[in-house]
Amino acid sequence: MAQTEVLVAGAGLAGLSAGIHLLEQGAGRLRVRVLERGHVIGGKASSMPHRDKATQRTFTVDHGFHVFFDYPNLGPRLQALGADGGLARAKHEVLIWSEGAVRRFQAWDVPSPFHLFPGGLLSGLYGPVDGVKIFRFMFDIFVTEIDRLSAAERRALDAISFDDYARQHGLSDDVINSSFFRFVTQSAFIFPKSMSALAAVAAMQLVAQNYDAVACRYLNRGCSDVVIEPLRQHFLRLGGILEKFKAVEHVNVTGDRVSSFTVENNKHYIHATEATTNWYSNYHSTETHAAGPPPVTTDVTAAYYVAALPPRDLEEVLSPASLALPYFEKITRLETQRTIAFTLWYDRVVSPPDADGAIIGLPGPFSTVADLHWLQRDPEGRGSVVQFVGEDGAYASRPDADIVADAMDVLHRVWPAARTATIEKKLFHRGNHDAFFLSTPGSDELRPDAASPYPNLFLAGDYTQTGFRVICMEGAYISGMQAANEILAREGLPRARVLPMKEPGGVISLARLAKRALGGATGP
Ligand SMILES: Cc1cc2nc3c(=O)[nH]c(=O)nc-3n(C[C@H](O)[C@H](O)[C@H](O)COP(=O)(O)OP(=O)(O)OC[C@H]3O[C@@H](n4cnc5c(N)ncnc54)[C@H](O)[C@@H]3O)c2cc1C
Repeated sequence: MAQTEVLVAGAGLAGLSAGIHLLEQGAGRLRVRVLERGHVIGGKASSMPHRDKATQRTFTVDHGFHVFFDYPNLGPRLQALGADGGLARAKHEVLIWSEGAVRRFQAWDVPSPFHLFPGGLLSGLYGPVDGVKIFRFMFDIFVTEIDRLSAAERRALDAISFDDYARQHGLSDDVINSSFFRFVTQSAFIFPKSMSALAAVAAMQLVAQNYDAVACRYLNRGCSDVVIEPLRQHFLRLGGILEKFKAVEHVNVTGDRVSSFTVENNKHYIHATEATTNWYSNYHSTETHAAGPPPVTTDVTAAYYVAALPPRDLEEVLSPASLALPYFEKITRLETQRTIAFTLWYDRVVSPPDADGAIIGLPGPFSTVADLHWLQRDPEGRGSVVQFVGEDGAYASRPDADIVADAMDVLHRVWPAARTATIEKKLFHRGNHDAFFLSTPGSDELRPDAASPYPNLFLAGDYTQTGFRVICMEGAYISGMQAANEILAREGLPRARVLPMKEPGGVISLARLAKRALGGATGP
């Protein structure tokens, strides 16, 4: 049987998901080829083993530690592939940075996110009046049913920043800017600017529905091991073709259709640099792979094309004529921000022994720091694996050394044991390759649907319209399903079923029902 060719650019989660669903639903009629410019599969959800020459130890380097919520599509998929053993439910101790010191408080055994409030009150992070206001605000947020809002209501919620939204609910700037509020509302997670209220509500609902009172799921090994590798192997078992060092350079258009991808092999080679003695190593770089064959450029044709590339990479490969089309022009207005991840491997444990996964809500630029030692159980690891994740905005014009100095200052105050412990390895990563899409006010309108104006080109990626709204692994996975579904529909093949986020249950679901019964008002 002659097969219909599909060419996918980008082997991140979105590209892999598109490939898997095309092959699973395609009944042998589709041939899928995924092209990845680098030597690592998985994009922002990848991790790399890094062999340290000096110590002969292997360190797992992640882009940033990944929390795995109860994702309705990716979760069952990993379970079906027998890969969910890598998702450990871990107790997390929450420490909040407040007025130059860390406050530690216990979560109560009541449904999330309300489990944080009694502890916050008792540890003096806010007074009773603000406590009541925060509680009411959060309750309103959880009762909001985004998918039942009218388009106009959704636009209004997206147009306003989360901070202004909180102000409208009577919260003071002191409360809004406190680390506690930022942490429980997720409104500052590696975000330099305020998220739109719509994006923040979606993120808070996701987190709240998945954290139980004292624990949530983390990856207990590198992200590539737990998430990407099972998917990659599944894609290959289905007969998919995966090619590394194949950078898509141009999306060529003839008439009103995409006619080919111009592909250059071996242009982008991402390698790990030796960093044992170098504090400020950026462990990724883009250069020609000296040992490989010389770059060759070819035009590759297919019946359908999927661009599973982040917005900035997509812009680079589109022609000015394509970028002038309203569909693509909107993408150029989406904001992105590069992230910083900073990992320290210690010779001993520096975080408190009773915390399985200590997470600290910090002021910028690092929004969180965690000790992955408790989560990753690295067989070769002896001590804490401390990882900071943050955004580059506040430090854009400052050298790496400033960031490291500020981070170390905070760390030493948070976990004093780190002062005397020996750092065995340190990696600092501040790269353009993993720029994060920012859900700033007004951005929901700019996020593209999978089907482009070219009838044979489809977009996938965490920044596209997925209905999930949170920039995360599940969003990327759903976007791949959606791009695949567009092609499957055109080929008369059955579509893959995209499952929605689960209902929160309990008091929130009852309140939603009551609100609906009282006139259908489900909005804020
Ligand atoms: C620091 C950090 C922490 C995060 N934490 C979490 C978390 O806790 N939980 C969670 O669920 N999610 C988290 N995420 C988000 C999650 O990792 C991403 O949403 C998801 O991995 C994005 O997948 P993607 O396929 O859309 O894009 P990407 O992962 O960016 O994939 C795009 C791929 O395309 C390739 N590519 C680019 N240009 C070209 C080209 N011209 N030709 C060929 N290939 C190309 C890239 O090399 C890459 O492999 C985090 C992300 C970061 C950066």
